[in-house]
Amino acid sequence: MNILITGASRGIGKAIALKASAEGHTLALVARSADALLGVETSINNNKGTAKSYVCDVTSPQQVASLHQAVISDFGGIDAIINNAGIAPSLKLEETTDTIWRETFDTNVSSAFYIVRAFIGELRNSNDAHIINIASTAASEGFAYTAAYTASKHALLGFSRAIAKEFFRYDISVATLCPGFVRTSILDASIRNITSKTGKTNEEAERQLGLMNISGNILEPDEIATAVINLLKLRAVENGQEMIL
Ligand code: NAP
Repeated sequence: MNILITGASRGIGKAIALKASAEGHTLALVARSADALLGVETSINNNKGTAKSYVCDVTSPQQVASLHQAVISDFGGIDAIINNAGIAPSLKLEETTDTIWRETFDTNVSSAFYIVRAFIGELRNSNDAHIINIASTAASEGFAYTAAYTASKHALLGFSRAIAKEFFRYDISVATLCPGFVRTSILDASIRNITSKTGKTNEEAERQLGLMNISGNILEPDEIATAVINLLKLRAVENGQEMIL
C-alpha cells in the first residue's frame, strides 16, 4: 500500500511511519522540518523499507497542490492518507490571539481538507483506500485552556463524519482515532505548563495527565501506530457509518 503520512517528522507520525514500513508499506512522509524528515526517511530506507520525504506546510493549499504533483509523479498513486499533523496550544481564552486560533484550525483541520481534496482522485482509483484522521479525546469533550485545540479537533471529527458518508459510495474507509495523552513533544509542553503554573514536579504533572486517560497512564506513540496499522486492515465504514476509536 502507498501511504501518505502528515506530521511524520517526529512523535506519533514518526512512530506510524516506522511501523507501517515494517509492515511492508511504501511511504510518503510529510512535514516542514527537512532534517528531521530526512532522518526518518533514511532510517526507513536503511532498514530495507521505501520512504520519500516531502517538505510541505500542510496549512497552505498551494503547497499541498505541489505536494500532490510531486507524490503522484514519484508513486503513481496513493492508497491511504494519515492526517496526523497537528499543534496543541494551551492558553487561557483571553490569551488566545487571532493568529493562534487560525493557526490551530489551519493545522488541525483545514490541512486534512486540503490533503483529502488533493488526493481524492487517487483514493477513488485505489481498491483498498483509507483515510485515517488523528483527532484526540478533545474531539468529543472539552478541556480547560485549550479552546482552539478542542474546537479544531471537534471540527476534524465533523469533517471525518461528513466524508465517511460522502466517500462510502467509493468504498473509501474513513476512520478517526481519538487518543488521550501520548508521550511526544505535545505532552512535554503540557507538563512544562503544569509545573510552571503549579510548582508540581515533572513526575506529578505526568501522573496528573495520565489519570485523564482511560488507562490511567500516558500512551506511547507506538500504541497509536499499532492502532493505525490495525485500521488499515479493516474496512471502517458500513453504510456510511464512521468509525471513531
Ligand atoms: P508532535 O510530536 O509535536 O508532532 C507534530 C507533527 O506535526 C510534527 O511532525 C510536525 O512537523 C507536524 N506539523 C505541525 N504543523 C505542521 C504543518 N503546518 N505542516 C506540516 N506538518 C506540520 O505531536 P504529536 O503528539 O506527535 O501529535 C500528532 C497528532 O496527534 C496531532 O494531530 C495531535 O493533535 C494528535 N494528538 C496528540 C496527543 C498527545 O498527547 N501527544 C493526544 C491526542 C492527539 P514539523 O514541525 O516538522 O512541520
